Amino acid sequence: MEHIANIVTADLDVMQVRKDFPILQRQVHGKPLVYFDNGATTQKPQVVIDAEARYYEEYNSNVHRGVHHLSQIATDAYEKARRIVAGYINAAHEHEVIFTKGTTESINLVATTMSRGYLKAGDSVIISAMEHHANIVPWQIACEVSGATLKVIPINERGELIMEAYEAMLDDTVKMVAVTYVSNTLGTVNPVEDIITLAHQRNIPVLIDAAQAIQHLSIDVQALKPEFLAFSSHKIYGPTGFGVLYGTTEWLNKLPPYQGGGEMIKTVTFAKTTYNELPHKFEAGTPHIAGAIGLGVALEYLQGTGLDKIQRWEKQLQEYALESLRTIDGIRFIGDAANRSGAISFLVHNIHPFDMGELLDQQGIAVRTGHHCTEPLMDFFKIPGTVRASLTFYNTMEEVDKLVAGVKRAASMLL
Ligand code: PMP
Repeated sequence: MEHIANIVTADLDVMQVRKDFPILQRQVHGKPLVYFDNGATTQKPQVVIDAEARYYEEYNSNVHRGVHHLSQIATDAYEKARRIVAGYINAAHEHEVIFTKGTTESINLVATTMSRGYLKAGDSVIISAMEHHANIVPWQIACEVSGATLKVIPINERGELIMEAYEAMLDDTVKMVAVTYVSNTLGTVNPVEDIITLAHQRNIPVLIDAAQAIQHLSIDVQALKPEFLAFSSHKIYGPTGFGVLYGTTEWLNKLPPYQGGGEMIKTVTFAKTTYNELPHKFEAGTPHIAGAIGLGVALEYLQGTGLDKIQRWEKQLQEYALESLRTIDGIRFIGDAANRSGAISFLVHNIHPFDMGELLDQQGIAVRTGHHCTEPLMDFFKIPGTVRASLTFYNTMEEVDKLVAGVKRAASMLL
């Protein structure tokens, strides 16, 4: 294993990378922080923190509405962030990038607007059994409002979608497919290319929840061809409270506005309002300007560090973690998909995940425990929750070793 560590370290200088993230230098309970809760939120590099602070210190001003100097600088910075995001996912047009509060709001935007005329009684919407609540509940509400039916692609015991079942579900009633690219609980990478191709054969639009994919995989929306793709800034090293909805021009024009207010209008009279063009039609109110700027800088930071290097290192780290964790007596992985990324969920003997999480915390190791906002998945596996370690490129093999030792120590205390 040391051999691998040496080769990879020569590729991505992880120790150098770690210096870019100030929080990684801190201690927790007197121990160096080992942060394995990246699926919940990632840490921020200094350049992102500085860019946000610089906005407030030097050019804080509202966007789009001002002719004065600061407003123009803020508007330029905000729109530059849109350009960076569009480039990052290879959107055909900048106006196909809608800024939102995050994945949750992006999905709510699509589900809500689809429920206002597009979805009708007798229609159906397909999601999957491994969705985050953020890609379940908005569709349940949309179905309730419109009279449409929600259908769920089942999974197998390894935590993989049963694609034959999906194919069989695609009938004339289906008006929308919304699935996650990568499961936040299981780490499963879904065959989204096939999911989209099959839906498109019947002219059904597809939304991809990329909350756990954008930070680990390269996404080219023109190659993948989803009608919608959602992700959060805070899971890709940017600020919280900010995110993206990518949508094709055709679909964004087809859907009605989501929220009414400033910015999204062209003209307003009490008799009638006309709506602004894309992307502003979907950006009512003052946005999280510093969030946009921070996300842009985060994406530039990743590109500067090297996405291919990052992805190679994450793959090595993932394999090392799975191999090392497998040596723990009584460990059971929840999710054992052939194609996986990010999260590793497990249980040890009959130890409750909260107890394991607390003992790991005392050793400075941050993992997430619980249902991870995927309660239906917990019902499927008949478990109360899992311990989830989600890895990213600033993690090291030494940290994995600490996790393994920590789990063993905790198990010996709890059994
Ligand atoms: N979908 C998935 C797959 C997620 O992992 C998350 C966050 N855990 C969300 C949606 C919701 O993201 P946010 O809370 O940033 O809106």
